[in-house]
Amino acid sequence: MLEIYVHIPFCIKKCAYCDFNSFFGDEAAVNAYKEMLIKEIKACPHRGERVDTVFIGGGTPSFIDAGHIYDIMDTVSKSFSVSDDCEISMEANPESISAEKLAVYKSAGINRVSMGVQSFCDEELKTLGRVHSGEKAVSSYMKIREAGFDNVNLDLMFSFPGQTLESWEKSLRKAAELEPSHISAYSLIIEEGTEFFKKYKNYQTNEILDRIMYRKTSEILSEYGFHRYEISNFSKSGRECRHNIGYWKRYNYIGFGLSAHSLYDDIRSSNTDSFEEYIKGNTAGETEKLSTDDKIGEFMFLGLRMSEGVRFSDFSKNFGIGLYDRFANVIEKYCRMGLLETDDTSLKLTDRGIDVSNTIFAEFI
Ligand code: SF4
Repeated sequence: MLEIYVHIPFCIKKCAYCDFNSFFGDEAAVNAYKEMLIKEIKACPHRGERVDTVFIGGGTPSFIDAGHIYDIMDTVSKSFSVSDDCEISMEANPESISAEKLAVYKSAGINRVSMGVQSFCDEELKTLGRVHSGEKAVSSYMKIREAGFDNVNLDLMFSFPGQTLESWEKSLRKAAELEPSHISAYSLIIEEGTEFFKKYKNYQTNEILDRIMYRKTSEILSEYGFHRYEISNFSKSGRECRHNIGYWKRYNYIGFGLSAHSLYDDIRSSNTDSFEEYIKGNTAGETEKLSTDDKIGEFMFLGLRMSEGVRFSDFSKNFGIGLYDRFANVIEKYCRMGLLETDDTSLKLTDRGIDVSNTIFAEFI
């Protein structure tokens, strides 16, 4: 089981909150990047292996010519054994979607589109530094559906300056009423180095409001038939993102492109984050062989992110010891506090546990 991630770092304009390695790219930069990306995929030592999910993310993959996406997918298909039911996702933003591009994505084999919306309120979109309106997000979503994509995710964001509980609820309902198959809802963390960080240096997230918004998210989305399968991810039944589940379950994945990360047989590696070095062919970044403790830590904090939690049998199968043998004190402490719960088969976060998940994860690392 292998997953592939392809990174397209280009965006039309930097959003105010964004700390990803993404930037504007002119035609020459995009062409040079695509060329290197294709070389990197063709040279992968794991080529020929069976691939079950592909995710083209960014950045904004829909910003570049659709023909580039076609060429990239063509290279992936010729270099790997892409399974017949492979989930092939691509990220897009409302301002750069067109019927023509969508037709090319279809012919390239893309079968899932993930669109960044964040909010349907124009004032909020302005605050976030997004270049589209709420109306544009709706019309682009319609185009995606008209092009025949029935597996569509919408990304939304909450807990940012100026947003209210009412406006969040409105955006959430608007998204759910469009009937996508999947909604991701992330609470904003203001990261250093972003425009937001400079502007809202002294901004204190209202933790209570943040948690109320989160609870509301689960409540509202379940009204519309979405179930939460990971802390920030909600889907209709059977439409969970297989690619992301692979990350949380620590399947092997290979990342291609600028700053892309890979995990293969417990070796974590990353590509360079320097665009200049990458297009010169110096793609490699850092490599780390994970110790057993690293693996156990990752297994626990990634597994607990998922609503199904960590299965006792999976833990013993992977590490040759019981979950209780390793973590009895932590499990008992948080179960007593009502933040973790167990049944015969697994260990999970409770709803209250999700609110303090980072503190709990830290205990397993
Ligand atoms: S579109 Fe996404 S990747 Fe690009 S700047 Fe905005 S948040 Fe960052």
